[in-house]
Amino acid sequence: MNCAYVTLICNGDAYLPGVEALGESLKATGTSKLMVAMASADVSEETRARLEAQGWQIRDIAPLHKAGAQPLFPRFDDVFAKLRAWQLTEFDKVVLLDADTLVLQNIDELFLRPYFAAAPDFLMPDRFNSGVMVLDPSEETFARMVEVLDKAPTYDGGDQGFLNTFFADWFAMPVAHRLPAGYNLMHFILQFLRGHPVLQRSLEREAKVIHYAIQKPWHAAPQLSGAAQDWWQMYARVHPELDTDWRHRVHKLEDRTFDRVIEAFIR
Ligand code: MN
Repeated sequence: MNCAYVTLICNGDAYLPGVEALGESLKATGTSKLMVAMASADVSEETRARLEAQGWQIRDIAPLHKAGAQPLFPRFDDVFAKLRAWQLTEFDKVVLLDADTLVLQNIDELFLRPYFAAAPDFLMPDRFNSGVMVLDPSEETFARMVEVLDKAPTYDGGDQGFLNTFFADWFAMPVAHRLPAGYNLMHFILQFLRGHPVLQRSLEREAKVIHYAIQKPWHAAPQLSGAAQDWWQMYARVHPELDTDWRHRVHKLEDRTFDRVIEAFIR
């Protein structure tokens, strides 16, 4: 079976840090599957070359828009291009991962899932989150999507709302189509669960993919705590120049009160 992990990079180079960290996290799981980045025309040559050097195969894609869509966030404007993953018919099965996801452990078992599979959205559990999806590419399905795209409702103005309209029966599908929540864990949920001493242990097993929806870790300074720390650790493996000595000293601190952190800094 031909399969690949696929992500989307669009909106110029804005999501480059996300794709770099995602790729590094996939490689760290020891997967032998291909990594494919669908790139819109506004992604720079430099970014393409850098991603290729890190093991990504680049596939150029044309934009895809929904007429009259009113995106929840301006960055949702390009997201319908994600549907072009259905056009990657050289693959029998694709695991589509948002550029703002990070893989914590090997998830190759997702390629054994039936079409179509996704995990519930934390905000509306009877709908799926489109940040992690298992799909079988098909030009026929893609054509059907494009046919209904402009008229179909989308509750969030983005691809997720549209796809939930397109796969309206997802919640009623047999259980294999519904991925456990750990395959698409919002970073703020993970952060909350980690604070709980009992949940912490089951989390080690169950947390497979963190999804940095809404707040992107690379839009803030390197974080020393919370789920953003996972992302920064992975990103620092790609960019060791960011991995400073003081960061390690601060990480080692048990007591992270302001005074202790400052002490670690200036030592
Ligand atoms: Mn996302």
